Amino acid sequence: MPQIETVSGPVDDGELGLFLAHEHLTLVTEQVHAQFPHLYDDEAIYEAAVEQVQNAMEQGVKTIVEPSCMDIGRDVHLAQRVAAATGIQLVMCTGVYGQHYTFLPQYFENRDPQALVDVFLHDIETGIQGTDVKAAFLKCAVDEPGVTEDVERVLRAVAQTSLKTGRPIMAHSQPATRRGLEIMDVFDDEGIDPRKVQIAHTGDTDDLDYIEELLARGPWIGMDRYGLDIFLPTDKRNATVIELCKRGHANRMTLSQDACATMDWYPPELKPQLAPEWDYTFLWRGVLPVLSDGGVSDDEIDTMMRENPRAWLTA
Ligand SMILES: [Zn+2]
Repeated sequence: MPQIETVSGPVDDGELGLFLAHEHLTLVTEQVHAQFPHLYDDEAIYEAAVEQVQNAMEQGVKTIVEPSCMDIGRDVHLAQRVAAATGIQLVMCTGVYGQHYTFLPQYFENRDPQALVDVFLHDIETGIQGTDVKAAFLKCAVDEPGVTEDVERVLRAVAQTSLKTGRPIMAHSQPATRRGLEIMDVFDDEGIDPRKVQIAHTGDTDDLDYIEELLARGPWIGMDRYGLDIFLPTDKRNATVIELCKRGHANRMTLSQDACATMDWYPPELKPQLAPEWDYTFLWRGVLPVLSDGGVSDDEIDTMMRENPRAWLTA
């Protein structure tokens, strides 16, 4: 039976259960947190993460994929505390987000691209941030600026690490600029099996032609930003998922919220205006009942929330 690495150790894939396929315990600007720690209340960050995880577990969630990587504050020690306090199975990654979605820090900028592969391999084979917690997947990001030279270097290092280790890949994308297709171009060029690739944030668009074009390339797609109406309102996200299920694509989608129990990208007082419903359990309030009313079956919801994330992780 395939096993998946979690913060609490390897878990048989049959024990993964109901997933949230993309949520963050916290999102912090790493340099600011490291240099000006007085701006942060780490206990409050921990408590908010525990609260969100517990809320999700009350809905039956057993496993949360936590795709924080370099540049957005991956914190394995926080994850260990949250897992110990709640019993949640947290799946972590290694990878690079890219500062402003464009460039690498000097450390990697001025070294051979192999330096990236080496740190990714370390996190997969030895452990993350001084622990023995192994990265279960690889993460990269291509947003509005596109595949810059540095971003391409990350994508290729991620692909080469995946080829060496068999680990799957999650790629943050901006569908408005059809970045999913450019990501697949690089991965195809590196010889990656598209079943190992999840194109995150595909649900930020209701452009069905783009989504069909992307699906034809073979990856999983993340309908994973429910509650972030600033990118696409919930009713349009739901209509898109309903239509894709009608077209027989329930076996290609994951459902999640990309929610951050806390985040420092904006002053916290802006959250009620920007994304009032955005949390770990919005799916059960604003999404699953609407999908059911729209004709999506319980089996299809199960496929999207249990089977697809499991299949991607074990591809
Ligand atoms: Zn995310």
